[in-house]
Amino acid sequence: MIRQFELVERVKSYDPNADEEALDRAYVFSMQAHGSQKRASGDPYFSHPVEVAGILSQMKLDSASIVTGLLHDTVEDTVATLGDIERLFGRDIARLVDGVTKLSRIELQSDQTKQAENFRKLVLAMSEDIRVLLVKLADRLHNMQTLHYIKDPEKRRRIARETMEIYAPLAERIGIHRMKDELEDLAFAELHADARDGIKARLTYLREQGGDIVPRILSELDQTLRAGGVDASVSGREKTPYSIWRKMQRKDVGFEQLSDIMAFRVVVSSVEQCYQALGIIHSHYPVVPGRFKDYISTPKPNKYQSLHTGIIGPERQRIEAQIRTREMHEVAELGVAAHWSYKQGEAKTEGTQYRWLRELLDILEHAAGPEEFLENTKLEMFQDQVFCFTPKGDLIALPRGATPVDFAYAVHSQVGDTCVGAKINGRIVPLRSQLSNGDQVEIVVSKAQTPSPTWERFVVTGKARARIRRFVRTQQRAQYLDLGKAILTKAFRHDAVELNDKQLETVLKQFNCQSAEDLYAAVGEGLATGREVLNALYPNRVEGKASTPKVVPLARARAKAKGADYAVPIRGLIPGMALHYAGCCHPLPGDRIVGIVTTGKGVTIHTIDCDTLESFAETPERWLDVSWDTVTDEPPSHVGRINVMIGNEPGSLGSLTTVIGKNAGNITNLKITNRSTDFFEILVDIEVRDVKHLTNVIAALRATPIINSVERARG
Ligand code: MN
Repeated sequence: MIRQFELVERVKSYDPNADEEALDRAYVFSMQAHGSQKRASGDPYFSHPVEVAGILSQMKLDSASIVTGLLHDTVEDTVATLGDIERLFGRDIARLVDGVTKLSRIELQSDQTKQAENFRKLVLAMSEDIRVLLVKLADRLHNMQTLHYIKDPEKRRRIARETMEIYAPLAERIGIHRMKDELEDLAFAELHADARDGIKARLTYLREQGGDIVPRILSELDQTLRAGGVDASVSGREKTPYSIWRKMQRKDVGFEQLSDIMAFRVVVSSVEQCYQALGIIHSHYPVVPGRFKDYISTPKPNKYQSLHTGIIGPERQRIEAQIRTREMHEVAELGVAAHWSYKQGEAKTEGTQYRWLRELLDILEHAAGPEEFLENTKLEMFQDQVFCFTPKGDLIALPRGATPVDFAYAVHSQVGDTCVGAKINGRIVPLRSQLSNGDQVEIVVSKAQTPSPTWERFVVTGKARARIRRFVRTQQRAQYLDLGKAILTKAFRHDAVELNDKQLETVLKQFNCQSAEDLYAAVGEGLATGREVLNALYPNRVEGKASTPKVVPLARARAKAKGADYAVPIRGLIPGMALHYAGCCHPLPGDRIVGIVTTGKGVTIHTIDCDTLESFAETPERWLDVSWDTVTDEPPSHVGRINVMIGNEPGSLGSLTTVIGKNAGNITNLKITNRSTDFFEILVDIEVRDVKHLTNVIAALRATPIINSVERARG
């Protein structure tokens, strides 16, 4: 185990300004917090965070990263809280530790490897600060180095698979090749031990067969380059067993046919020398066609730069040569972690596909030191997405701002259509809530539920929006259809002719309709009127002047639409039609009423003496004869509106409300419409049972001395 002073020395060797005091405190805090906990290896648990800090110091990271490495398991595995961390180490460290803790809760299940890319994105999106990811990778590396101590083979395999699917690719994506190779090799050893052993044995055999072939190739390459005038440092290595295995699988070839298992690295001091070295190599050895790649002029998305070429090299061996500058080499080995130590180097802006890498380079050019550089390196990738889990652990990727309704539709259209509620991480939340990364979302469904048009206002996914719209359209059509049928029935009765679908078929073409239903819907929507349809059917009919609407008894279907939010005490309505009470006259049970059909809106109920009705005098087909269904013992649920004139003196408003309250009326709204020195004019909305109830309230008010006058509001 690395001792306290060793760790501090290491950090100070590359960062003289490191916060030595914080490192010391974190070391001691972690040791005390983990106490007597043990690892599967039998080592004290504390050895793990110390090793993680050690790995981070090899990557030459700033003190905040090292401190986070030391503390990374304290919140999850000891009694220490995030509050403790913040109090002792500050908000920044607390934020980093919290980030690593959250990442540790993500687990890839074996049946989810198809979703690996989403998991990788989730990890990146949750990291937010690149240091969180770097600490997590170091944590995973040490766990992999000690994986063989874990007894449960299933658990070992799960961790290895997760490493292979998520963490090794992430290490590669941010350019830390050395860590990627090691993670892959450790996971490979767990997942395909036989294959790895076989390849290693074969490599050993080849090495023995060829004698010291690698050193011989090395020295020849070195001499060739030197003779051509390029001073290079050449190193050679075998490819990793895992990369050889991958190649064998990809190309479906046996090991014998796999030629270039050796890679040679030529490190020079400038870009010009890279191309010079390439020229020397190509003029000395036969080139393998199709194996040349220029990652200097076109770097990989993770900022990797090198020239790659395949040649039949010294000793007639097929080899790959990778030519790069020292800076490129560091970047290739250490990735973003290496950037800040080379900030003086030329950082060209390329059209990389990852915005965050460009931003990274920007920061790189302007940051003052390691601290500032890493501080500012927030991972911007995938910030436009959120990743959430189903209760089964499936990962759903959604745009940022997505709600449980979007989530429900992403799971299945049926789930979306019938969703009534949602739980996020076990807590019930409104359907309009915004989801966050890593949320576990459970959708509550009900067969009785249908999509609500109001959802359209907050959903962000196209799928959800399309389904909701489609539903609203079908529902609207059903309503138009009912409405149109009612309007036509009424118009036809008025003319004392009978309405039937067969008859209508003769005029469908005139109205551009396919079926009688279409025509009903068109009339309901207001695209055609009842009179137009009548005129089409009976061109010679003499239009009677319909001045006052004749009250025609309609089929007295009791409106008890299923699932409607009103228990309508009104007769004469078409089932399923939307019902509104007019805001102008506030009809009450007991009032004489009339229904006015409004296209697309349903029926509005007015009192028969409402002034507004005048405006419908010319369209008698819109009038519906309706009456109250006598319902007794109803709680006050209708709103009556009265106009009160009351003296402007202390306590006058008080007596008004007292009188209304004493008479079991419930004030729902109160508005002063006029105010003079001696009088208020007030509009009062009162919940009452029926018109009789309101009359009682009015009578009681009129009996109150301070009240000047009370009238029901009309129109
Ligand atoms: Mn750990």
